[in-house]
Amino acid sequence: MFGHLQELDQLQQLLERFPLPNLQTRTLATVETAKKTYPILGLTLGNPDPSAPTLFLVGGVHGLEKIGSQVLIAYLAVLFRQLTWDEHLQELFKKVRICTIPILNPGGMAHSRRSNPNGVDLMRNAPVESLSSNRPWLIGGQRLSPRLPWYRGPEGAPLEREAQTLIDFAKENCLTAKTCLAIDFHSGFGMRDRLWYPYAKTQEPFPKLKEAMALKTLLDLTYAHHVYKIESQSDSYTTHGDLWDYLFEIHESSPLYRDHLFLPWTLEMGSWTWLKKNPLQILSPHGLFHPMKLHRYSRVMRRHILLIDFFLKATAHSSSWSPR
Ligand SMILES: [Zn+2]
Repeated sequence: MFGHLQELDQLQQLLERFPLPNLQTRTLATVETAKKTYPILGLTLGNPDPSAPTLFLVGGVHGLEKIGSQVLIAYLAVLFRQLTWDEHLQELFKKVRICTIPILNPGGMAHSRRSNPNGVDLMRNAPVESLSSNRPWLIGGQRLSPRLPWYRGPEGAPLEREAQTLIDFAKENCLTAKTCLAIDFHSGFGMRDRLWYPYAKTQEPFPKLKEAMALKTLLDLTYAHHVYKIESQSDSYTTHGDLWDYLFEIHESSPLYRDHLFLPWTLEMGSWTWLKKNPLQILSPHGLFHPMKLHRYSRVMRRHILLIDFFLKATAHSSSWSPR
């Protein structure tokens, strides 16, 4: 019997309500906390061919940042409903697929922690060393103590179960795709919503910068009034152990994936504006990472659904924008 978590319950209700024929759900792994066990669910929707254009969506890497999982689940609710009546969308999903882990760190989320139940920050856990000079002390990843935030895990230890689950799911379902765009949903940094492309480890240019810029241009031209600040993650700060840096290196170094395009993005929802407009929310444990007022919450839900939809179409039609 699994423990309850609001986001997990919402997701499971959604899956029961929409038993779509081309939707598969698997329990990829389970994580234990002191009292309860939680599943990490992985969903694949649409074209079952693993080489098909794939949009990979990940939420809840940091347990405190519940809004990321909530945006993702809200998007799935819109999508599943539309798939019951929109024939164009049904046709599109014969071509593309969405692979998603909406709640990667349910143990952390259940305990309102950024880290997983072992105290490890999953976004500092990959075997990637940053040599950059603008890596902030502690925030960039530390091995001093799991009691401090941004803990990388013990030196030389295997990946944490959640991190390994993400890597295995991506290898099986996403890196195989001729075109794969990924979005990892986070919140808590800055005044604006940012879309980050790699690297996190270095300020050296990202090898797929041309492709990332082509997608930026497409977004700028399509939604002239979009709100996103699009930049390299390393423009804000650099870190050790980023899982997307790691996955990107796996992808780039494998001859299997030559001529494939894998572009992982991070959506960092700028929660400091929520704080500025409602300073008392800092008193809530989720206040730094979550819009507390209902109208602001609804706006966040609406805004990013449009972005995910754009990414889906861009994934499906990459030949029309990608410079390959
Ligand atoms: Zn985060």
